[in-house]
Amino acid sequence: MMNQKNLREKIFDLLMEREMSVSEIIRELGLDPSMRKEVFRIIESLGRIAKRKGMRVYVMPATCLSCGFTFRSLNPSKCPECRSERISEAKFIIK
Ligand SMILES: [Zn+2]
Repeated sequence: MMNQKNLREKIFDLLMEREMSVSEIIRELGLDPSMRKEVFRIIESLGRIAKRKGMRVYVMPATCLSCGFTFRSLNPSKCPECRSERISEAKFIIK
């Protein structure tokens, strides 16, 4: 069982390599999909660690695939404009 500290480091390393969505991180690390919220929480905590290393976490916001709406929420489920649930997930990268 991976502890939280290791998981945070693994996610940090992945996001240093390339931009990824939470679903991609879950797939890449072989995590249970039920850990989605946990992974979002960890990503939110990476900002401080990145800052200490002189880097930062960049967010490519989630967008609606039907109407192009850009979400403020990192993990939206439905478009407020057109009600579509076809959403391109937010992606993250550390630089
Ligand atoms: Zn929409």
